[in-house]
Amino acid sequence: MIKENYHTHTYRCGHAIGTDEEYIIEALASGITELGFSDHIFLPDHSQVGIRGDFELLDDYISSLKALREKYKDRIKIHIGFEAEAMPHYFSYYKSLLDKGDIEYLILGNHCEIDKNNELHFFFSHATKAKDIIRYTNSLVKGIKTGLFRIVAHPDYFMSSYFKWNATCISCAKRICKAAKKYGVVLEFNFGAVRRGKRLIGEEYRFAYPYNKFWEIAKKYKCKVMIGLDAHSPNDISTLNNDGGYEMFKELGLELSQKMTF
Ligand SMILES: [Zn+2]
Ligand SMILES: [Zn+2]
Repeated sequence: MIKENYHTHTYRCGHAIGTDEEYIIEALASGITELGFSDHIFLPDHSQVGIRGDFELLDDYISSLKALREKYKDRIKIHIGFEAEAMPHYFSYYKSLLDKGDIEYLILGNHCEIDKNNELHFFFSHATKAKDIIRYTNSLVKGIKTGLFRIVAHPDYFMSSYFKWNATCISCAKRICKAAKKYGVVLEFNFGAVRRGKRLIGEEYRFAYPYNKFWEIAKKYKCKVMIGLDAHSPNDISTLNNDGGYEMFKELGLELSQKMTF
C-alpha cells in the first residue's frame, strides 16, 4: 500500500476522465496522503488531440489545482507537475515552468519523438527494432542529464511491443539505470499497463510494462524506485486495482523510495 502518488493525469489530456477534485476525493478514500498531478505537458504551438491538452489549458490546470491544494490543505498534500518527453527544443520551456514556481516537478515520460519543427516522428510504444529502443534510450538519457526531471516514468516503456529481451535491451537498460543513478533520478515502476492486464507480446504473456528483466538490472544498479499509479481516472487511485503490480514489485525484491521531498 502506498501513501504517495505523483503520477496523476487530468481530463485535459483528452484520454483521462473525472474532475480534478474527484481524484483528490478518491485519494483521500484510498489513504493517499500526498497526491501529485502530472498531466501530459501542454506544448506551445503544438497540438496532439487525444494525447495532451492544448497550451491554452495551462492557466486553468495550474489555477484549478492551486485552489484545490488550498481547499484540501489540512487533509492531503497536493503537488503540481507535468509528465513530459525529452524534447530538447522544449527544455527551456520546461525550465521556465519550474523557475516560475507554478509547477514543482517534472516526470520524464518519453512516449514519442517530436523534432524541432514540431513534427511527430515516432511513438516509442511501437518500438519493434533494435534501432528504435536505442533511439528511445539516447533521448531518455539526454533528458535525465538535464536535471529537469525528478522521476523517469515507465523507463521500460520500450518493451511495450518489443518481442524479445536481447543484448540491445540489456545495454539500453544498463544505460538508463546508470544515468538515473548518477543524476539522482527516481525510476518509476508504473501501474498504468498493469491495469490493462497481461497479453501475448511475442512469445511472452506479460504486461506491456513493467518488464521484470529491466527491474533486475535496476536492482543491481541500486536505483531509487517508486511506484506510480499513472491514474487516468479517479478509480485508478484505488490501490485495489493494482494487485498484480504490487505482487510483481515484491517478487522482484525492489526497495521502495516512494516519498519525494520538495
Ligand atoms: Zn496518458
Ligand atoms: Zn506515460
